[in-house]
Amino acid sequence: MTVTDALRRLTEAPERAGIFLDVDGTLAPIVERASDAAVPGETRDLLEEIAGRYALVACVSGRAAEDARRLVGLPQLTYVGSHGAELLEPGKPVRVLPAFAEWAERVHAFVAAHGVGARMEDKGPIVAYHFRGSDELEPKLRAVADEAERSGFITHWGRKVLEVRPGVEVNKGMAVKELRDGLTTLYAGDDVTDLDAFEVVDVSVGVTSDEGPPEIRRADVVVDGPEGFVEVLRALR
Ligand SMILES: [Mg+2]
Repeated sequence: MTVTDALRRLTEAPERAGIFLDVDGTLAPIVERASDAAVPGETRDLLEEIAGRYALVACVSGRAAEDARRLVGLPQLTYVGSHGAELLEPGKPVRVLPAFAEWAERVHAFVAAHGVGARMEDKGPIVAYHFRGSDELEPKLRAVADEAERSGFITHWGRKVLEVRPGVEVNKGMAVKELRDGLTTLYAGDDVTDLDAFEVVDVSVGVTSDEGPPEIRRADVVVDGPEGFVEVLRALR
């Protein structure tokens, strides 16, 4: 099946379709430091066109919602941050799930007491330890993860990153379910955290890389990296 055929359910009735997109590794190429990531101009232009055409276009990220919006640069889109803990809709302030907000302080206290020299990223209620380029930190981070789990936090490993999360379940699939509202849906992503969302949409798009999980290839449409994903955006236009 061609990409165009796979997307027909969405392109035929965009007013009844919702497009959900992971950001890092899907729209923005993965770079050494997460803070240096950028969405290419062509990708942004295509997103802008798509935003005017579909009922909902939402970026679903592990980053804080405002950081995801800064990176993508399109205020007219909806942003789901911290894997679904935060919602940022056009013209509205960020909403944090109350159950998650209460945990934010505990997460920050834990990571402050468990520094290992990794680059830290504050995602609001989630804090990430990045160790790209510092593989020697991985054993120390395994110990931090064990301690975090014993202390009641949820930990998550991604592409050269360990996240310490609140001890309440939140994932991208739950976020998509909350927002899909009867729409025909597409979700595109490249990493472990995206697999939950693949389960709850009509069309899944796997963006492959050397580091992503093999399950990404089980998506309805499989493309090679953010460069390959541009072809999907063109087909959605
Ligand atoms: Mg990603």
